[in-house]
Amino acid sequence: PCSSHEASPISENNENKHAHGVSEKIVGVLGGGQLGRMLCQAASQMAIKVMILDPSKNCSASSLSYGHMVDSFDDSATVEEFAKRCGVLTVEIEHVDVETLEKLEKQGVDCQPKASTIRIIQDKYMQKVHFSHHGIPLPEFMEIGDIEGARRAGELFGYPLMIKSKRLAYDGRGNAVANNQDELSSAVMALGGFSRGLYVEKWAPFVKELAVIVARGKDGSMVCYPVVETIHRDNICHIVKAPADVPWKINKLATDVAQKAVGSLEGAGVFAVELFLTEDSQILLNEVAPRPHNSGHQTIECCYTSQFEQHLRAVVGLPLGDPSMRTPASIMYNILGEDDGEAGFKLAHQLIARAMCTPGASIHWYDKPEMRKQRKMGHITLVGRSMGVLEQRLHSILSEQSHQVD
Ligand code: ATP
Ligand code: MG
Ligand code: MG
Repeated sequence: PCSSHEASPISENNENKHAHGVSEKIVGVLGGGQLGRMLCQAASQMAIKVMILDPSKNCSASSLSYGHMVDSFDDSATVEEFAKRCGVLTVEIEHVDVETLEKLEKQGVDCQPKASTIRIIQDKYMQKVHFSHHGIPLPEFMEIGDIEGARRAGELFGYPLMIKSKRLAYDGRGNAVANNQDELSSAVMALGGFSRGLYVEKWAPFVKELAVIVARGKDGSMVCYPVVETIHRDNICHIVKAPADVPWKINKLATDVAQKAVGSLEGAGVFAVELFLTEDSQILLNEVAPRPHNSGHQTIECCYTSQFEQHLRAVVGLPLGDPSMRTPASIMYNILGEDDGEAGFKLAHQLIARAMCTPGASIHWYDKPEMRKQRKMGHITLVGRSMGVLEQRLHSILSEQSHQVD
């Protein structure tokens, strides 16, 4: 099934052959959530055509895409069919059918980043093994297969102990914390048991979470965005501050670790590197996303080249753009569902109404068909002269909300 504005195969479409966009390549994106939507927005500015593959007819990216194939990005036949319509394949989610991407690559289909990268990243344990082999600093970790193994890990790493699902994790939905040995089995149960594939990480006593977006072009050139601070609420990214308020040395170390991590992966695109800054000024890698990321939403307003434009440039083989900031400071605030259904919409609209009257604020609404508690529904970006001013502005936007910043 395809939506009404779905394009015909490239070979049959004369218009496509004679198109003179910034790139003639149709970019196929696996996934059509808010990241896909913002890729479509960046693409429209350069007249690049983005096709999306997503099972939801009303997904965020659908109405802004050049074409929407309404089907699963985790099904082999579908991904193959989709690939025929695109000049390059990329992802906005890593939980895709990677075997098919590997097969397509062998047949000469251009996948960016490479299927090998998606394979490593979609399994968080495999990702940790990969980065440790490349000498990237990480919290200690080990695989667990039964409750005995979990106990041994607890003895080795101490408590609290972070237990994680290897696969299909996002927004903290594959994480459970055991505060002592007695909590191990309930934490494992909460993650669906050992059969899902679990591993543990030593608790990282971080003072800040940082993130660095690294872009790599098809020619291998790399650029790094300024280091940002991310603040999570219930394991979900909630606030991003750009630039991060850290000493010069930490800034350099975070950028170096991020660049080295991305250097160990193959393919073009933007990569987000999530990091922990510990009390003793160490930088530890948490995880990498092989795509645009929540920690880079503010780049739309605060950098010369947004992460979305950068990703498109990278995957179609254009020169990379300038990642530096064009405003002194920026704060991104995620609009998370406060409640299900209408009640949630009402609260979000009140927040947006206050942001509308705030200088330097831009509102992004993802147009998701359903409002759910904790769901990412949109975001607000503030830009301005100094972080202090922006913090005050965000505070007044949130002042009538049930929760407060920090
Ligand atoms: P995302 O939505 O970023 O993909 P995810 O579901 O993959 O999230 P993680 O990034 O593994 O989850 O963890 C979510 C958050 O949990 C982290 O940002 C951090 O705040 C906390 N966390 C993760 N691992 C650890 C750890 N080893 N020690 C302490 N806190 C941790
Ligand atoms: Mg993750
Ligand atoms: Mg994460």
